[in-house]
Amino acid sequence: TRLTCADADRGASGRGTRGLAAVAGEGVTVPTTRGEVTYANFDYAASAPALTAVVEQITAALPEYASVHRGAGHLSQLTTERYEQARTAVKRFVRARLDDHVVFTRNTTDAINLLAHCVTGDTVVLDIEHHANLLPWKRSGARVVACQPTLEETLQALEAELACAPAALLAITGASNVTGEVLPIRRLTGIAHRHGARILVDAAQLAPHRALNLTSHGVDYAVFSGHKLYAPFGAGVLVGRGDWLDGAQPYLAGGGATADVSDHGADVRWHSGPARHEAGSPNVLGALSIAAAADVLSALGHDRLGLDEVALCDRLEEGLAAIDGVEILRIWPDSEDRVGIVAFTVTGIAPRAVAEYLSDTHGIGVRDGRFCAHPLLSHLGHPEGAVRASFGLGTSVADVERVIAAVTELVDAHA
Ligand code: PLP
Repeated sequence: TRLTCADADRGASGRGTRGLAAVAGEGVTVPTTRGEVTYANFDYAASAPALTAVVEQITAALPEYASVHRGAGHLSQLTTERYEQARTAVKRFVRARLDDHVVFTRNTTDAINLLAHCVTGDTVVLDIEHHANLLPWKRSGARVVACQPTLEETLQALEAELACAPAALLAITGASNVTGEVLPIRRLTGIAHRHGARILVDAAQLAPHRALNLTSHGVDYAVFSGHKLYAPFGAGVLVGRGDWLDGAQPYLAGGGATADVSDHGADVRWHSGPARHEAGSPNVLGALSIAAAADVLSALGHDRLGLDEVALCDRLEEGLAAIDGVEILRIWPDSEDRVGIVAFTVTGIAPRAVAEYLSDTHGIGVRDGRFCAHPLLSHLGHPEGAVRASFGLGTSVADVERVIAAVTELVDAHA
């Protein structure tokens, strides 16, 4: 069942839960050449606004925090408990296995670099990735598979690559940060496992929009960032199987990762578990924010959110595609699902000029450029870049119509 735009506008879950789904900054006005207007944020894929529920929880926790895992004082104990509960909340959010590790990192990039540090053996990646899921693997000599004209052919190419030589890991995005297309995680997991490889899902764009289930999907590792999940900047997550993480040297050397240090630091016994890779004082408030956001998304009914967004996405894409000279970027004709991202170009108008016009004249915030996915933009025939409108909780049909009307006006003025 696909929802209509009217359904979507009744609130993100369609169950009267707009309150829980409310995001900070709604109704903020910004200056434009035509005077003050309400800001329309279409840049969620870069960083989503914080949920008001997250802001409230963090505001409550802020006066009470103290250093974790070290002190006997009440606030230290309390903060430690909250920090460890945040790990449990993340596990619940992604339906992790009981013995999976949750390591708090700075962001997705940090989480992928951490896993890359732990993997021995080849990694296979696809050339559509955000640089965060390409360059850490390239450093260790990843095998990069070229994207094929259809998704089916691309899956076959990945399978052929994994079949031709053993690999330790298939590292793949859950949803493209450029086109929003969702990849078939179950099938990819099957492909990886059939050939003895594990799978990492870069869920930076997927997790804010779709429920993850590591256990039932068989996903070995997932990573995502708080700032795209309706929580503030500075914290991210690596969740997955503990053996590789415990078998590797700590990602960072320092306090907190050590069980015992002797012989002037020459003899070190490192912790196993998440602490092994979390040396230094962690971003406790960042972790609590992620946990709070994760709980809200779960309560809203994550899968239902996806349906609401598809209705908005369909309208945005259809409205933009109907404008002369607008081309919607798409990797595959046969991909079936996408999150709230529409990337497009306008013939004869540079992406930066489109983005500036939307902002300066209409108070609409979009992103332009190559979205840290230069190989993909070249593959799509737009090495000069594109415009990306991305959205999520709090976005209304009226917001979507504003974007369509503004691009129409720009193109008409240019004709
Ligand atoms: N992976 C994907 C798919 C992304 O969209 C992004 C950010 O845009 C990243 C990784 C990197 O995320 P971060 O900048 O939070 O490390």
